[in-house]
Amino acid sequence: MSDKQPIYVMPENVSRQMGKDAQRNNILAAKVVADIVKTTLGPKGMDKMLVDSSGEIIVTNDGVTILEEMEIEHPAAKMLVEIAKTQELEVGDGTTTAAMLAGKLLERAEILLDKNIHPTVIVKGYRLSSEKCMSILNELCIEVRDSSVLNHIAMTAMTGKGAEGDKEKLSELIVRAVDLVGEGREISKEDIKIEKVKGSGIEKSELVRGIVLNKERANKDMPSKIENAKILLVDFALEIKQMDKEARISVTSPEQLQNFIESEEKYLKELVWKIKDIGSNVVFCQKGIDDVAQYYLAKQGIFACRRVEKGDLEKLSRATGGKIISNLSDLNESELGNAERVEEVRESDDSLIYVQGTKGKAVTLVLRASSEHVLDEIERAVKDGLGDVISAFKSGKIVSGGGAVEIELARRLRIFARTLGGREQLAVEEFANALESIPEALAENAGLDPIDVLTELKSRHESGSFNDGLNLFTNKVENCLDAGIIEPIKVKSQAVSSASEVATLILRIDDVLISEGNSVGNRGNVPESYEGMD
Ligand code: ADP
Ligand code: MG
Repeated sequence: MSDKQPIYVMPENVSRQMGKDAQRNNILAAKVVADIVKTTLGPKGMDKMLVDSSGEIIVTNDGVTILEEMEIEHPAAKMLVEIAKTQELEVGDGTTTAAMLAGKLLERAEILLDKNIHPTVIVKGYRLSSEKCMSILNELCIEVRDSSVLNHIAMTAMTGKGAEGDKEKLSELIVRAVDLVGEGREISKEDIKIEKVKGSGIEKSELVRGIVLNKERANKDMPSKIENAKILLVDFALEIKQMDKEARISVTSPEQLQNFIESEEKYLKELVWKIKDIGSNVVFCQKGIDDVAQYYLAKQGIFACRRVEKGDLEKLSRATGGKIISNLSDLNESELGNAERVEEVRESDDSLIYVQGTKGKAVTLVLRASSEHVLDEIERAVKDGLGDVISAFKSGKIVSGGGAVEIELARRLRIFARTLGGREQLAVEEFANALESIPEALAENAGLDPIDVLTELKSRHESGSFNDGLNLFTNKVENCLDAGIIEPIKVKSQAVSSASEVATLILRIDDVLISEGNSVGNRGNVPESYEGMD
């Protein structure tokens, strides 16, 4: 074999980027993502309008929603979307902060790479910084649990969102909801249902003990109200089984056809009798309910509702103690749930079904607004508030917002950096710089001079006022704890640790291999709008 013979170790259709190219490319993609969400940060942040391929419009300020809807394809950028999703799952708020921080950490790392500092050194410095931040956060936080604090937490989460105008009212509902279901600090998001109703104004939103469904009963002949409800939950259709496409029934006489129809009817009739037999007077069905079945159910005085969402069926199960039945043979009295009352209430164009007086501690936040877009954005804001309040309720640990925490973390990190020898010190300093980009963006988005604001914040913190942040109600640097701009510690700890994790993950990549068959294809390259900038 001659020396010149090339050796192929990979299929031809794999594109490859190595070393610096791979690194720079990934960093650039992360920076683009961070820049996109940056303008939405904080109460003065702007909204984005997203239009999907089917023309569906979303107007939002919510970091994770923007990132998810953007259908990002670059693999490194996708990792940032993942952090936002984790943040949403773990806390429910702080998604913009988390994604932005990750982007900024990478932007700062690039400066170090330019100085020929090896990625492993940066990774180590970032890890140290992230750990240090966790312990600083624990020093900075204070422990309180009274409801006025929870109220402020909900309001801080909703300031500047679609719900801004009615945030007092909505905050009160959120805190009450958490109080109601949060006995003994045990609380699950599952116990708080959000139901959206289009029509009246936001101020008509309410908190209901029990479960509310924006649905109507299957048939007007059914009773609209049942006291002492015995509830059957089923996830199969109350219909005749659909035949295979190929099935053919040949009938040779009118009697045969009649028999066939009658046997179908008989099946449904017996099904309803069985439901009645086990003592059920309310049925919630995940699938459809046949007209004939509806007729018999109505005749038996049974209230039935069809096409109930799976999640709602599960909530009903938690609240009423009923089991979700998947099989006819499981129909049994012991599987039924209980509620004091099930009632359908008509409200202009809509019908709402109230399931109240249950053993389980379910509550429903009924959100009302005049349009669907507004309603969706309010729901996102309320979910942020709810996530924060639940988190604060559980741990009791809060920190001040308005960038106060980020500035203090940065200050203490710089002091920590001085204790480190070697080049990791530089990485810790850049970590601190990345944290400062949060108050910087808050100021910039409010049209204030970010340099002035940062300078003032830093000098206040130097003199020991570590709760001072940028209050965007007054546009002044002041004590944010006193101003009621507060957040649960988890929003910050989760954002910092996951941003650092993903930044270090991306930094350690020096080889990107992309198969052409992959939808990502050559998109692993520099995002189009940034081509030529590197
Ligand atoms: P995220 O998705 O990260 O939660 P937001 O757009 O909700 O992004 O902005 C959160 C940031 O806004 C936090 O840093 C919070 O402290 C800050 N913030 C909220 N209310 C105020 C306020 N009144 N003044 C200054 N900053 C505020
Ligand atoms: Mg928020």
